[in-house]
Formats: sequence, structure tokens, C-alpha cells
Amino acid sequence: MIPRAARPITVASRRQHRVRTAGPLVWILSLVLIAPLARAQAYALVEVRAGDAVGAIAQRYGVDVEVLLDANDLAGHLIRPGDVLRVPLLEARGGVAEPAPEPPPGFRRHTLASGETLTEVVERYGITMTALVGANPDLSSLDRLPVGVELLIPPGEGLVVGLEQGVALTDLIEAYGADPAEVARANHLRGPFDLRPGMLLFLPGVAPVAALERLAHVRELENTYVWPLHGRLTSYYGRRNLGLGTSSFHRGLDIAAPSGSTIVATRSGTVTFAGWSDRGYGNLVKVRHAGGAETWYAHASRVLVRVGESVSQGEPIALVGSTGISTGPHLHLELHVQGVAIDPLSELR
Ligand SMILES: [Zn+2]
Repeated sequence: MIPRAARPITVASRRQHRVRTAGPLVWILSLVLIAPLARAQAYALVEVRAGDAVGAIAQRYGVDVEVLLDANDLAGHLIRPGDVLRVPLLEARGGVAEPAPEPPPGFRRHTLASGETLTEVVERYGITMTALVGANPDLSSLDRLPVGVELLIPPGEGLVVGLEQGVALTDLIEAYGADPAEVARANHLRGPFDLRPGMLLFLPGVAPVAALERLAHVRELENTYVWPLHGRLTSYYGRRNLGLGTSSFHRGLDIAAPSGSTIVATRSGTVTFAGWSDRGYGNLVKVRHAGGAETWYAHASRVLVRVGESVSQGEPIALVGSTGISTGPHLHLELHVQGVAIDPLSELR
């Protein structure tokens, strides 16, 4: 059995990895992702499905029913399909309490600061991005990481793997094509007594191929704009004729949907505005994406996010409404690139 160096886990799938069974790499993942998120008062947004009960949702996330009720100002246990609940991950249990395996010799730790990018981290330590990925093969993204994530800083290029129970070091070395002498030297291994299940081993010179491929795919998805809502397109971007020789320029795309329908972030990013706009947008959410582009979501009946919050692609951010200057429930979506509103249809996938 070979430890899986990389699993297709993204920030968007926080829920999935909470229910995985424990294994060394899950420990790393939990410590890399969950612990810092918890410190940052993270929560998951969960849409209630038909047949869901508060108790069942609480159980699914390992939180107390009371915690869930408090976090959502629910007077009773009445929830309806389509409701969006906040589940505070700080209160979640399970998988988090595992002790952190010690990093291999010569490794340092770095805690990601607010606004700090991985490019800045590799420059600061004089290592390559490949080396950083090799030391942290369970990274969820190269561009969107929560503040407070702890990164291992390796002495050079190679791959960090967890030694699973029952796995022979020699098999591991062979599976990755590593050099046994190099592995022994890099990990200060003098004999079998230096091996413990769950320990982190550094395989010098082994490229983190699977992790790099996965992260490239994540980056591709993160830089794609998905539909924030499905509905009838009632007004397109561009000049619209108002009759009597007057016209106006419509800076966005209108998608009609029943009031209360969930609007999701079209791409991951940081919320830069969330609340009432007196410029006709009504309840408005603005999300800034990597590279500086912004998406605006107008006329919402309810806003589900706060300024400064990180949102993943596909995460609920607001509910459809007809607030502001609007003639019926719809989402008015704008896409701003370099400060200019362009046609969202040109980018939506
Ligand atoms: Zn519009």
C-alpha cells in the first residue's frame, strides 16, 4: 500500500474531508486546513435539503444542536429546504485533535499571513514552488488559502509522505523511485528503530507530480467563472432601448429566478462589499478574485456573507430578491475587469 501523496481536495470540499477516516495524510490535511480555519472562526454554509433536520445536520458536521441553533438564530427546530445554515467549524469535533507529526529534519514552519501569497513565501525562503508543493502535497490551492495555514518549508526539492502503519520503508522508497541513501540521510534514519507509523518522511529529489497536477487543475477551476444561478436570461449586457429615442447601457446580465433562490460565488475570492447599496443595486455582494477582477451580485433578498470573508467557487453568498431598482426577482450580475464592467456572458462557463 502506498500513501496517497495527493487527494483531490479543495477548499470548497471542507465537508468531505471532515468525514474521512484518519490516516497520516488526513492528519496533515486537518492540521493544515481545519485548525487555522477554526482559529479564523470559519464556518460552512449548508443548504437545507428536503428531509433534512437540524439534528441530522449537526451530527453530520459534529457540532452540538445548540451551537447550530445559536449560530443561525433559529428559535425552534423548523428549517425548510433551501434555507442556508451556518455551521461553525470551530465547534466541530473529530479529526482535529490528532497530534501534529513532526516535520522531517531541516524543515521550518511558516504561518501564512493575511494577504501573503505563496510566491512571496517561496521568494522569502529562496525555494522553488515545486519544493513548497512537495513539502505540502495536500495544499488545497496555490492561490486561495485561508490565513493562518501552516506551511512546511523544506530544505530543497522532494516529496513529504506519511509513513502509514504496516508500510515498509523500502517499499515506499521503491514506489516513489527515491534514493535509499538520500532518504536515510535526509531523515536522520540510522535503523528501523527510527521509524514510527505516521511520521513524515522527506524523499529528496522526488517530484510532487500528482499534487502539481491537481493544483494546476484547481487553479484552472478557480480562474473559471461558473453560473451563479440558473434561470431565464431576461436582459443582456449592453445598450438597451428605452423607447422614445432614449437608451441606457446595461452593465450586467439579468438572470430571473424565484425569490429566495440561492446565488453562489461564480469564482472563489474575497467579499469586498456585502449589504445595502443606494445606487439602485439594493442588497449587493461584491467578490474580488485573484488578479483583481470583481463580480457583483445585485437585488438580493438576503446577503449570506460578510466583508473580508473568503468564499469558494460555488459557495452560497446571497438569495435572489428584488431589492433596489428592480421590477421582479432576479440577479443582476456584473463582471468588472480592471475596473470596467464587461459582458459576463463572455466569461461564464
Ligand atoms: Zn440588470
